[in-house]
Amino acid sequence: MSECIFCMVAAGDIPARVVYEDDTIIAFDDIAPQAPVHTLIIPRDHYEHLGSGVPAEVLSALFAAVPKVAAAKGVEESGYRVVVNNGRDAMQTVHHLHVHVFGGRAMAHGMVHFDEGRP
Ligand code: AMP
Ligand code: ZN
Repeated sequence: MSECIFCMVAAGDIPARVVYEDDTIIAFDDIAPQAPVHTLIIPRDHYEHLGSGVPAEVLSALFAAVPKVAAAKGVEESGYRVVVNNGRDAMQTVHHLHVHVFGGRAMAHGMVHFDEGRP
């Protein structure tokens, strides 16, 4: 998709700090990091989210890259959090499937944060 910003990253049309890549995926640092380590892993091909018919081999490549990214960023021992935002309620803002890898400092317990109140 020519108007998709992550397709442009995958094509090398906009710059990114690439951490790791293979034939199927590319991992690069988030432009607005929310942790000392904040790296995104995307498939080179465009899929909107996990519900978009992503082939199993692409899912496999995405998640196989996670520990490689963690090692490259030096957080494999200290630990890291992996997040995939899917769709509106998850506040997905870039509609090209991506896996967030967060690390580099201790995080709060719990994984779900709402703008207002509790569930
Ligand atoms: P999400 O809210 O899950 O859709 O996350 C999208 C992420 O993409 C955000 O953390 C943005 O900071 C990040 N982002 C947007 N544009 C770029 C870019 N050109 N390079 C790196 N990260 C980006
Ligand atoms: Zn795309």
